Amino acid sequence: MSSARRLLTALLLVAPAGLAAQTAPRPDADPRIEKLVAAVSPERMRATVTKLESFGTRSTLSDTVSTTRGIGAARRWIFDEFKRMSPKLQVSYDRHLLAQQGRITRDVDLVNVVAVLPGRSPRRVYVSGHYDSVNQRGAVATGRPATAGQPAQPNDDVDAPGANDDGSGTALTMELARLFAESGVEFDATLVFITWAGEEQGLIGSMAHASALADASGVVEANFNNDIVGSSVGGSGLVDGESVKVYAIGPEDSPSRSLARYIARIAATYVPSHSIRLMAREDRFGRGSDHSSFTANKFPAVVFREANENYARQHSADDKIIGMDFTYLAQNARVNAAGAASVALAPPAPRVLGDRGQALIGRGKSGYDADLQWVASPGAVGYRVYWRDAWTNDWQHTRVVGNVTQVIMPNVSIDDVVFGVAAIGADGNESIISAYVSPDRPMSRIKLRK
Ligand SMILES: [Zn+2]
Repeated sequence: MSSARRLLTALLLVAPAGLAAQTAPRPDADPRIEKLVAAVSPERMRATVTKLESFGTRSTLSDTVSTTRGIGAARRWIFDEFKRMSPKLQVSYDRHLLAQQGRITRDVDLVNVVAVLPGRSPRRVYVSGHYDSVNQRGAVATGRPATAGQPAQPNDDVDAPGANDDGSGTALTMELARLFAESGVEFDATLVFITWAGEEQGLIGSMAHASALADASGVVEANFNNDIVGSSVGGSGLVDGESVKVYAIGPEDSPSRSLARYIARIAATYVPSHSIRLMAREDRFGRGSDHSSFTANKFPAVVFREANENYARQHSADDKIIGMDFTYLAQNARVNAAGAASVALAPPAPRVLGDRGQALIGRGKSGYDADLQWVASPGAVGYRVYWRDAWTNDWQHTRVVGNVTQVIMPNVSIDDVVFGVAAIGADGNESIISAYVSPDRPMSRIKLRK
């Protein structure tokens, strides 16, 4: 059979079978995801941030004994809240005993708080924010933005309310834990809702967690990290409650960029009133967050950031709930809910690498076709192939190709076009796209004659 015929056959085989099996077309949106998105409560997140602020400080180096003040009281409260939400959540402290190092000025027990919603498969989808806070300016609120020369050592007893940084990400994570657990939906992926400590000392809690997971050969499909996502008014006076930034580290077709594009596409389906501004960089200029602990361990991860930040409030006694907008935070939570649910309901992204790590793409028998192959994803009933011109950063064309693991597109050059493939589950949910990436070709040094 010619390549063209084979492709045509693959296409013809799929469409009629799909139509015959249904009396009415299935909507693009999964009603279970729509329900999750609709259930997000701004008022519950306001209550969470109010409580988090009441601990005075959640500095990683603050009091751990008091029942009302400091990081110990905060983490026990988060733990108890997770416990109260649903018996389906497996709640635990993820504890790491740290020696004095860097901005950790003494030995300290660093504790992330985790709620796991087990899925049918062990592959993990993370939703996260950091619950620790910091006041780098001492007890007096200066109202000035953080600048070089300010004390780098966090003060562990002054007030650090951390309402937006990162009470917002913590409240979002806790809200989704509750909604996903209460939903009764059976997810394929295991969802991990985690609030980090030690972020303000250099992403320590997330790094300890992600490194341990990598050592244990854990599989992470995505990390939706949220850090400063709860205010619609920037320090410059700009107001934007209708968009959120998503930063993803490159290169162009890295798994993190695939995740970012996926989020934009899913958000357009489930939260069309909110715009996703994709940022082709790891994070804001010179700033960081816990998603980088994941990408450092080769796990796909992005960070959500509010549209316009107020740097003057951050890391100070001024980071209070009064500067926040819970209607806006709820929109960001809905985007997270839609994205995480969609990834967790879909089959895993297809593997497009062979056993030797080579991309499963070639020029076919003719030498001038695009010959795409992939490893079947468990639970997939079909696949969608994506492609675009090489000098573009988002997919331009797609085609559903049925339950096959090879497609040949005649006379399409794999040198000029980028390809990707996603797996589609029985309920229509689609995985993140796996892109075919040209392998690195290390150059050796040239030897010159003396
Ligand atoms: Zn932060």
